[in-house]
Amino acid sequence: MTFTEPAMRPPQEASSLLLRATQGCTYNKCQFCYVSRGYPFMAVTPMQLDAEVASLQKRFPDNTAIYMTGSNPFALPSDKLRTYLQIIARRIPRFERVSMQSRIADIAGKSMEELREFCGMGLRHLYIGTESGNDEALRLMNKGQTAAQCVEQLLRLDEAGITYTTFYIIGMGGQGAGKVSGEATARMFNQVHPKRITTTGMTVFRHTPLSDMVARGEFIEASEREKIEELRTFLQNLTIDVFYDGIHYLNPLNYRFSNSDAQAKRLVLDDIDDVLRQSTDDELELMVSRRLKHSL
Ligand code: SF4
Repeated sequence: MTFTEPAMRPPQEASSLLLRATQGCTYNKCQFCYVSRGYPFMAVTPMQLDAEVASLQKRFPDNTAIYMTGSNPFALPSDKLRTYLQIIARRIPRFERVSMQSRIADIAGKSMEELREFCGMGLRHLYIGTESGNDEALRLMNKGQTAAQCVEQLLRLDEAGITYTTFYIIGMGGQGAGKVSGEATARMFNQVHPKRITTTGMTVFRHTPLSDMVARGEFIEASEREKIEELRTFLQNLTIDVFYDGIHYLNPLNYRFSNSDAQAKRLVLDDIDDVLRQSTDDELELMVSRRLKHSL
C-alpha cells in the first residue's frame, strides 16, 4: 500500500518527531473539509512503523515528543494503537509523549480502561476538531457530533489524564450565526479542560461540498467583521484557564495568550474593539484574503 496524502502536523508539533500513522479520514463527510478527500483511509503496518522509527530516531533527542500523522489515527482499533505505542517505546524508551488527531466519535469508541491504558503508555495528547459549540452549525456542516457529545467525550479524556487541544472554526454557522456560535462555543469549552484552543476562520475551499452549498445558495459566508465579532463574543464568555492560540493564517486576528491572564485578555478585547471601530469592511476582508492568497 502506498501513502499518497502529504503528511501534515499542527504548528505546535514543529519540533516533534513525526511518524506516519494513517492517511485519509474514517469519516470524510464534513462539508467544509478539503484535507483528506481523495485519499483512501489506510494505516501503516507495524513493520512500516518500526522501520520509520528506526530511520528517524537518531535525528531526535531521547526524550523527543512524537506526533503521529493522519486526520484521525485515534479511530484505529485499540490493538493496533497499542502495538504502535509498544514499537515506539521499544525504540525510544524515554520519549516525552505521543500525540495525534482524533474525532469525538473516535474517543467514544474507546472504553475508559483503554483511554487510561493509552495515557499510561505515553499517548498523552489529542488534537480534536470540536469546531463549534453551535449545534445548528455542526449540523449544517455535517460534522457528525453535537456540543453535548463533545463535552461528554472531553470529560472522559480529563478523567483518563489525556490532555487535548481543541479546534474552533470561527464563522462556521455562516452569515448571522456569529453571536450564537461565539456564546455556544464558549459555553461548551467552559465545561471541559482543553490545554489549548486553536482557531481558524471558516473558508470555502474549491471542490468541497461546502462550495456546492454556496453555489446553491444554501450557505452564505459570514463577513470578516462578523467573524471578529464572533471571536470577541467567544473570548468575552470564555472563563476557563486555557491557552488561546489564534495564530492560524485563516484567522481574522492572530492573538495568542493565556485566558487566565486578565491583563492580556483585556488588551486583546480592547484591540478587537479598536480593529472593529477603525477598519472598514473592505479592509477587514483584505486582511485574510491576502494571507490566503500567499498560502496557496
Ligand atoms: S473529521 Fe476532520 S478530516 Fe474528517 S472529514 Fe471532518 S474535518 Fe475532514
